[in-house]
Formats: sequence, structure tokens, C-alpha cells
Amino acid sequence: MLNLNPEQLKQHATPFYVYDLNLLRQTLQSAQQEAEKYNFHVHYALKANANAPVLEQMRQHGFGADCVSGNEVKAAIENGFSPKEVVFAGVGKSDEEINYALDQDIFCFNCESKHELEVLNELAEQKNTVARVALRINPNVNANTHKYITTGLEENKFGINAWELESVIELLQQLKHVELIGIHFHIGSQITDLTVFKNLCTRVNEFQEWFLARNIELEHINVGGGLGVDYYHPEENPIPDFAAYFSLFNQFLELRPGQQVHFELGRALVAQCGTLISRVLYIKSGVTTNFAILDAGMTELIRPALYQSYHKIENLTSEKQEVRYDVVGPICESSDCFGKAVMLPETNRGDLIAIRTAGAYGEVMASAYNLRDKAQAIYV
Ligand SMILES: *Cc1c(COP(=O)(O)O)cnc(C)c1O
Repeated sequence: MLNLNPEQLKQHATPFYVYDLNLLRQTLQSAQQEAEKYNFHVHYALKANANAPVLEQMRQHGFGADCVSGNEVKAAIENGFSPKEVVFAGVGKSDEEINYALDQDIFCFNCESKHELEVLNELAEQKNTVARVALRINPNVNANTHKYITTGLEENKFGINAWELESVIELLQQLKHVELIGIHFHIGSQITDLTVFKNLCTRVNEFQEWFLARNIELEHINVGGGLGVDYYHPEENPIPDFAAYFSLFNQFLELRPGQQVHFELGRALVAQCGTLISRVLYIKSGVTTNFAILDAGMTELIRPALYQSYHKIENLTSEKQEVRYDVVGPICESSDCFGKAVMLPETNRGDLIAIRTAGAYGEVMASAYNLRDKAQAIYV
């Protein structure tokens, strides 16, 4: 249950993010407990939320770090993650980022193209070292999620396609400064239909057969992240069903002796613990609806504008009769809208508005567009 006290919240200048560390701990405990049952390793995807107190909780609960930029690798290490627990993915790693990660001797580079393997090999050779790599394979599995957060289809830019694998293996035999230790998949985000993950398991099993037929041993199988959360019912469903999620992989993944399974969860771990708090600046009557104009906008939370995503919106300070509003921000873009035709208790200037389930891909995506100040974060 989220711990929000309007009297306390009123003391802060809006807009700001509030994070419920109790809910975060409960979520992490649940995820870790369920993963441990099968000896699965979970890496937290830093890109969902890289605030230091969040990273500290991740570390305390024994998660590794999944990074998609050099600065994320740096943030993980500076916040106490061991380089041995850091994996580094991304279609466009720069030389500088690769060199930094090589110097840190991170656990694994998740490589997304032949060209990247060649560059990584060259840079590792210059440092007289060997980089551990997992091939990020595009399994052509439909995540059935918004097209902007689907990553595992052949039309997407991510990963190595199945038909390229043969030539990748030939290439790897020539590259002396990369060592293949596993395969990696990540098919998308906000996946709430578990059969999608079952389909992924089937594909992973097929790829395993393919490698086995070529006598290639894979020590690590990384199935990525993507588990979704309930944006519609944050109160009733604050913690995702990690038991069902991990047990599905345990049931359907066919593993060889000694293989380790890795996961990269972001959203499922942090989305529900964060809320964006805003004040109502103005109420304006439109043709078919009223507008509630907030002091928070797409600069603080871009998900509705970018992915047409739903966030539950609540008025924390009014208990009057319900009225319908389009809840919008102050930014000069028509897409700067948090929700259309939202039923809220009659809302007035100064009321506190909570935009729920904003802990993942919220604060990290903030921008300074319109020269906006950065919203503060508070922890309760
Ligand atoms: C974004 C990302 C994740 C995390 O995705 P969630 O949907 O937040 O769980 C995991 N792995 C990779 C490679 C990613 O890019």
C-alpha cells in the first residue's frame, strides 16, 4: 500500500517525485525470493530509474546491474555494484563507452551486431584483454505491447537475427579477444501476458539446440526483462506476480547442466513505488470538457506523450462530487496531456494531484524543454 500523506506532501514545492521505499523493499524482497527458488540471477535495468537510494536498495537485495550506456555502467559501479555483476547492452556502444567498460572488466557485453563484435575485439586487443560477450539474439517474438516498446521483432533495430548466426559463429572463431559465454534476449517492455514469455522460452530452447548442434557451450542464458505492472490498479496490485513469472521460465526453459539463467528487470521493480505530485494551476472550460492545468508536464513524465500510456490520476485534496477533466501540463505541445476525460472530484487551483505508477521511465526521462527546472525527488 502506497504511503502518501497529503499534509506532508503539501509542504514541498511542486512538481516533485515521491518514492515509497517501503513498497520498493517489499517488491524487491518478493522478486528476490521468487528468483532464488530456481537460482535465477536478476540484474536491475538502471535505465528505469537510476536514483542513488533506488540503486542502494537494489544492491542491498543482491541484484546485479543491467546497463545500456557507459554512464550507466559508471553509475552502477560508483553506487557499489561489483563490475562482476554488470552487464552492458545497447545497439550503439561508443568506443569510449566500450573502453571504460573494458577497464572495469565488467561481467559481460551483450553484443548486438557483427560489426560491434569486431570493434569490441579490436579495442580489447589494444588493451591486451579478452571481453566476455553474450550474443543478443532477436528471436522474432511478438511482445504484444506498444510498438515503441517492442524490441524482439525482426523489423526492430535490436539484436542479431537468426539468419546471421552462422556467420557470427564463423567470425567469432577468428576473434581472439572476445569470448562467447552466452546468449541474450530482450523482447520488449510492459508485457502483461505471460504467454509471450512462454513463446520466448520456446525460441530460446530452439536456439540452444542450434548451438548444441555446433558443439558450442553456453554458460549463461539471459532472457532480459519486460515484465509489466498494473497501471490501472496500483492500490490493489502494487507488486507484480513474480512467482508466476519466474516459475514459468523454470517450467519452460530447457537448461543444460551448469547453465545460469539471468533476468534484467526494470519497470516491474520500480514503477509502483514512484508517484509524480503536482499542483493544479488553472481550471479552464473547453468545448466538450474542462481542462485541469497542472504545474507538471511531459518534461517531468513523458510516457503519456511518447507511448500513449495510461497513468492513474488522483486528486489528493478534494472530496467533492466527480467532474470530468482533461488533465494537461503547461508545456507548449498538444501531446502534453496526462489523461483525457478523467473523472476527478471537483478540482480547484492549488489541489494536489498524484500521477501514479511513475517510478519507472519517469524521472530518468525528464527533460529541460521550455527551460524547465528539474523536479526534486523525495523518499518516504
Ligand atoms: C530496457 C531494458 C531492460 C528492462 O526492461 P523492463 O521492461 O523495464 O523490465 C532489460 N534489458 C534490456 C537490454 C533493456 O534495454
